[in-house]
Amino acid sequence: MPQGWFSMSDQVAPGIVFRRIHRELNAIHFCIEGLERLPRQLKAQQNRVVTAEKTRTDTADFLKKTKVDQHQTEVSLRQLIALMEKYLRQLDESSDPKVFTALTHELATTKKKIGETEDKVLELMTIIDETAPKVPELEKGIQKAKTDLGDFEKEAGTKKSDLESLLVDHKNRLAELEPLIPSEFAQGYFRTKKATFQDCLSSVADKTCNACQVTITSQMQNEIDDNRYVTCKSCGRILYQPGTD
Ligand SMILES: [Zn+2]
Repeated sequence: MPQGWFSMSDQVAPGIVFRRIHRELNAIHFCIEGLERLPRQLKAQQNRVVTAEKTRTDTADFLKKTKVDQHQTEVSLRQLIALMEKYLRQLDESSDPKVFTALTHELATTKKKIGETEDKVLELMTIIDETAPKVPELEKGIQKAKTDLGDFEKEAGTKKSDLESLLVDHKNRLAELEPLIPSEFAQGYFRTKKATFQDCLSSVADKTCNACQVTITSQMQNEIDDNRYVTCKSCGRILYQPGTD
């Protein structure tokens, strides 16, 4: 038991008991919040890995599909060129004006298609050139997210056990302090603690409740200075003067 710590048999002024209780309640709240945050943080780290893997897979799939498109478009282009060459030969050999006109028309259409297909091949090549380097970058991103997750898991293990042991310490201290509350105030304290936990208490500074910022009367301040039982008229919290004991 630290020096100056009160045993149950000591008579301690309510203001002092509540000040110490509030410190423990705040610490317990801090530990619980920290412990509750850990699984959420872990989930977020795991989600980063999943998202990074999905982005990499989607990008690699898109690249593969675009390469297939490019290949098919190049096949079409070769077929169109072969067709154009066929028409050119037929034009050379044709003596019928009707056939000549029809072939000229077909040739024009085919040339137009060749132009469009060449554009499409170029467009697909550009997409491939832009997408291909992204895959190894995304792979690095996955490795980074996995490393971060591993680091977090290690740290979280230590953090969890630290917080759990702190929580036990503070709960033990609280259990020593609560019996020191004078019986006439105990019911009110336990009732508000059940509803609001650490928010059932507040320190006072410059005649102002630190929780709700409402000014208290001089009479109340005098009573708080005497470490007597005082509640805030505005927020209902049990008030105490700040201290480091
Ligand atoms: Zn208040």
